[in-house]
Amino acid sequence: MSRPGTPENPLRVAIIGAGPSGFYAADQIIRDPATEAQVDLFDRLPTPYGLVRGGVAPDHPKIKSVTRVYERTAANEGFRFFGNVEVGRDLMIADFERHYHAILYTFGAEADRELGIPGEDLPGSYAATAFVGWYNAHPDYADREFGLDRAKRAVVIGNGNVAMDVTRMLALDDAELRRTDIADHAIDVLDSSGIEEIVVLGRRGPAQAAFTNPEIKEIGELEEADVIVDPADVELDPASQAWIESDEADKTARVNVEILTRYSQSRPSSKPKTIVLRFLSSPVEIRGGERVESIVIGRNELVMDEGSLRARDTGEREEIECELVLRSVGYTGIPLPGVPFDEKKGTILNHEGRVLESHGGEHRTGHYTAGWIKRGPSGVIGTNKKDAQETVAHLLSDVGEGRLLDPEDPGPEAIENLLSERKANFVSFSGWQKIDHAEVTRGEPHERPRVKFAKIDEMLDVATKDGKAGT
Ligand code: NAP
Repeated sequence: MSRPGTPENPLRVAIIGAGPSGFYAADQIIRDPATEAQVDLFDRLPTPYGLVRGGVAPDHPKIKSVTRVYERTAANEGFRFFGNVEVGRDLMIADFERHYHAILYTFGAEADRELGIPGEDLPGSYAATAFVGWYNAHPDYADREFGLDRAKRAVVIGNGNVAMDVTRMLALDDAELRRTDIADHAIDVLDSSGIEEIVVLGRRGPAQAAFTNPEIKEIGELEEADVIVDPADVELDPASQAWIESDEADKTARVNVEILTRYSQSRPSSKPKTIVLRFLSSPVEIRGGERVESIVIGRNELVMDEGSLRARDTGEREEIECELVLRSVGYTGIPLPGVPFDEKKGTILNHEGRVLESHGGEHRTGHYTAGWIKRGPSGVIGTNKKDAQETVAHLLSDVGEGRLLDPEDPGPEAIENLLSERKANFVSFSGWQKIDHAEVTRGEPHERPRVKFAKIDEMLDVATKDGKAGT
């Protein structure tokens, strides 16, 4: 047989994880003019788009419009989507090795990072990832409860864009929420929540905050919430001041400091809710009997450590009452059994997207990775395009070198037959389009972009209407 990538023997690639990285990688492989390719994109959910559907905040519809680009990828002849297929349940890694020349892992970083402080697991203290999944109708989180009815003060830990998203969602008013594609089950709960104050804790200073300018600006533009920043909190320490004035400082940090300084100078206008942004503050302990009752905060100072400013505990303590804590200190990857994993980084062990057998070891032939599970949870959606390019360039160069898997059964029907044999109720892209259409239709009478299904069974019912899900 000729080398893969020719019309007689097309390159067959399985991509696992249908988020932005999976779609960008699929697109780049299919569009390579020198390679005839067929790409099968798998996801454990019946729906594609990963964090664009399950992570991006409901009030950010513009960011979600990137799915139009992914729809164009899906329209290519060499592309197939297999939703509702879980690796380890419906297909094993060995199955992919038997059917594809290459496997590309793009399943993201789904788990939350832990704080490692006492009380972290008390009812009332939750990972922001779960809260985000809940309000975005992710089936894994649809049944969660956060005790919003009994909470007056919420504390959000972390200074990234996810912290900004959850803060906004707690502060948006009912009319603002009802214009979005937020999960139906979340609207009434958020609307009837007793939250009056949201305290956001940054462990370092305003110049080190991880959020970006539009996100911190939005916090100051909320209809229902005033923003409070203590002027002492935005007074930079000498090292941060010198850095922010230097050429090394990035514009995002400089503008963040300007915006926060403005907030510190403005007077609250007696809106019903208050957002308090605090800096140099780390959670030390979450206290409570049955549920969260308070949080102990440690005051930090910044110290230079290997070229960057790190937070160091001063020993000063303060306890504030609160009923809800949302920990938003980043995501981490979950290992896939049989795929080499870097526990420290929470990523698949890889060099520039080529999966490695061990630290500094050989490339595992035919296995690749892209996106958050390759580099960690950083950057915006578009960052994954460049990241996928690096991986796909290596994959295509390995095609040229003949360094790929040698599948026993590379025919395109074989994987469908195997899934049918195993009674896997997979959803094709046209099955997803039925779900999409049904959601948009449900939204129309309410002038909402869509009303999402939050249960897998509901999605499968719609996808299988007028035929099986795979058609
Ligand atoms: P992130 O940007 O990495 O922010 C994590 C935050 O948690 C940082 O402020 C970090 O502080 C803090 N942190 C970490 N460990 C901590 C600890 N033990 N105690 C207290 N604070 C701690 O992560 P993210 O907010 O989850 O966002 C993930 C990625 O998605 C980011 O690239 C983000 O920009 C992107 N995103 C973008 C948007 C958007 O474009 N609108 C929306 C959501 C997410 P240090 O800096 O001190 O480590």
